[in-house]
Amino acid sequence: MRIDILTLFPDMCKAVYSESIIGRALSKGIIEIHSHNIRDFTQDKHKRVDDSPYGGGMGMLMQAQPIYDCYKSVCDSVGKKTHLIYLSPQGTVLTQKRAVELSKLDNITLLCGHYEGIDERVLEEIVDEEISIGDFVLTGGELPALVLIDCIARMVDGVLPNEEAFSCESHYSGLLEHPQYTKPYEWNGIKVPDVLISGHHANIEKWKREQSLKRTFERRPDLLENASLSDFDRKFLDNLKNSVEDLD
Ligand code: SAM
Repeated sequence: MRIDILTLFPDMCKAVYSESIIGRALSKGIIEIHSHNIRDFTQDKHKRVDDSPYGGGMGMLMQAQPIYDCYKSVCDSVGKKTHLIYLSPQGTVLTQKRAVELSKLDNITLLCGHYEGIDERVLEEIVDEEISIGDFVLTGGELPALVLIDCIARMVDGVLPNEEAFSCESHYSGLLEHPQYTKPYEWNGIKVPDVLISGHHANIEKWKREQSLKRTFERRPDLLENASLSDFDRKFLDNLKNSVEDLD
């Protein structure tokens, strides 16, 4: 997979994606990430890339021309129009489901805004999708782009040891993951749940599923509406609901 980032701060992006699991995936050649400095594409002799908004208002806006030319140069280098995602607080909030879909694409290009945002005309011209990382506003699109890259890249074939490494985690199946424990067996007077050291595989899997359902019910009941649930799961959740109602 090839990911291109259009940004005014390419070094900020490189510093993050060169490390850890994504860094190793890059050195193994499983994914490619290219950061492009939008400023390199300005036709302004003072290298300006921003100007004040028409109609007044606070701050500065990124201009259309350098962004358009930067994107065109990425498309030329890839050899086709790539799927362009603008990281924006006005976009659709990122979900694991969308990240899974994006991890199947060969190329994506990420556009990072800065200042007060970007001239709307270039967004209309080139953007395929707007993604937000949550209902809050950051200074620039670089951190959201890095969040999106991290989330997508770990699901690209070969980045993690196997699919189970991410498919068991929270949100992948629509539920939150069960609690987890490591050595020592007893810490601070608290022991690991007996079932986990029983060696009984079926009981362990049942415990994990129930804990996952319980945790989702307690912390994010909204997720249960779209989760894929078996008859056993539904019965377990009904019992859980009844026991909570009895306590009330
Ligand atoms: N004036 C814009 C608005 O009110 O919608 C906000 C601009 S913000 C200060 C500057 C840039 O940060 C945006 O162009 C976008 O690229 C990025 N950004 C800020 N918050 C974001 C979020 N929650 N998700 C994704 N990108 C975000």
